[in-house]
Amino acid sequence: MNVPLLDLKPQLAALRPQIMAAVTRVIDSTGYILGREVTELEEKIARYCGSGQGIGVSSGTDALLAALMSLEIGPGDRVLTTPYTFFATMGTILRVGAQPLFVDIEPDNFNIDPEQMAEALAADRQAGRRIKAIIPVHLYGQCANMQRIMALAAEYEVPVIEDAAQAIGAECPYEENGIVTWHRAGSMGLCGCFSFFPSKNLGGIGDGGMLTTSDQGYAEIVRSNRNHGAEPKYYHSRVGGNFRLDPIQAAVLAIKLDHLEAWHAARRRNADRYRQLFRDAGLVGSPVGLPQAIYGEIEGAEQHNHHIYNQFVIMVPERDRLRQFLQDHAVGCEIYYPLCLHQQECLRSETYRKLSFPVAQQAAASSLALPIFPELTDEQLVYVVETIRRFYRAG
Ligand SMILES: *Cc1c(COP(=O)(O)O)cnc(C)c1O
Repeated sequence: MNVPLLDLKPQLAALRPQIMAAVTRVIDSTGYILGREVTELEEKIARYCGSGQGIGVSSGTDALLAALMSLEIGPGDRVLTTPYTFFATMGTILRVGAQPLFVDIEPDNFNIDPEQMAEALAADRQAGRRIKAIIPVHLYGQCANMQRIMALAAEYEVPVIEDAAQAIGAECPYEENGIVTWHRAGSMGLCGCFSFFPSKNLGGIGDGGMLTTSDQGYAEIVRSNRNHGAEPKYYHSRVGGNFRLDPIQAAVLAIKLDHLEAWHAARRRNADRYRQLFRDAGLVGSPVGLPQAIYGEIEGAEQHNHHIYNQFVIMVPERDRLRQFLQDHAVGCEIYYPLCLHQQECLRSETYRKLSFPVAQQAAASSLALPIFPELTDEQLVYVVETIRRFYRAG
């Protein structure tokens, strides 16, 4: 049996006539920049995420970049974030000339640790307030602890940019004005940054992204920055860039959005099935070095959250050998991410590499993403777990 990490073909097959018609419609319209398709998707995504408005941008990376530029964050400023995420979270901070400031992640959910954020913010207040934004990442499709993060943001008066690139539709319980309701990723901070990279739960047929916000003034700045800060056309009060979402992508994404909840549900069913199969196989342990220990989404997840499983990630001490074994047996898997951000070579300063974030580094050394896409069959899920069982059996 062959189990790819991700197969986009079944999803395409189901929607192909609609997608082809939508793409043809945009081509025939000759309206190739922004326009109705983009506006309609912005409205749909804003409604879906429970945010005031959406601003279609060229990628998740450009959503983050526009978010930072629109706050006028630059040289001398610091942005507090996690060392365990996709590179773009840090890359955009560096591109505006600011410095990333890292704190470690929580051991049970791969997301930034609010208690360590509190310490960093307190220290920063003493040292003259250089932290100008906080970027929590809802990694793998599970919300960071937004209740705690937003309380800290209010206390220290620092805006929150949610990196929700992997978490469109993820929810967490969130108290506002004394009432607890489920809030969607990207609706709690000043803004949410989404990616439509094809491997995300809502993926385009190329690059695309969206920024959501309920702050009208901020939205206007982001919209302006999306188009070189031109207002009116050819008059530039700010620099901005070309961060526009392509209408072909918008038209395709609008079709797919109608199926997103069903796809999330299928991913969740797959995750539940994995958990059951791993338990039945006696393969679940603690994260601290037991042999035959599988941890990660098996035990840590779903405690305080509505996960959308962009990735299903286990932690195993013998990760690299297991990865090879799975690949040898035609099971797709991937390491997200093998190196923490503070360890990346592009950070020229030695002081970064001397930092230590034990939980993030442990995750980087032992995490492995398994196939979780919606159309997986039960036979395939059984085969993945059976292959892992054979690996441990063989020693
Ligand atoms: C995918 C991703 C991004 C970047 O999105 P692109 O659309 O690929 O530019 C940013 N942050 C995280 C956490 C991501 O997973």
